[in-house]
Amino acid sequence: MSIEQQVIERAKEGKLLTHKCTSCGFLHLSTAYFCAKCGSKGFEDVLLDGVGSIATYTIITVAPSGFEKYTPYAFVVMAVDNSELRISGFMEGIATPADLPVGTRAKITGFDERGILIQKQ
Ligand SMILES: [Zn+2]
Repeated sequence: MSIEQQVIERAKEGKLLTHKCTSCGFLHLSTAYFCAKCGSKGFEDVLLDGVGSIATYTIITVAPSGFEKYTPYAFVVMAVDNSELRISGFMEGIATPADLPVGTRAKITGFDERGILIQKQ
């Protein structure tokens, strides 16, 4: 299974697959040859719970072709608990900023053509 496929399968379980530097502990979202923080080459997989808080987002009311059926929705950035990581994903049913105050608790709920799916907790 490719790394991408592993990430997808984990997202469907509500988890976030990360890559931890075995030297300094810095977490990476994607595979890297060198640690972004210390330059070390050793990594191990770490599975995080896909939960966190909404850091920012963009509400989409005019969707790209093929996505009209999903509007309104938001591309959200979620700060992942117990890490310095931020992931971006798709949250349906967001029409106005009142629907999603920054800091709202959220979780990964799946993965499909839209990417990582995130919902309010
Ligand atoms: Zn490192």
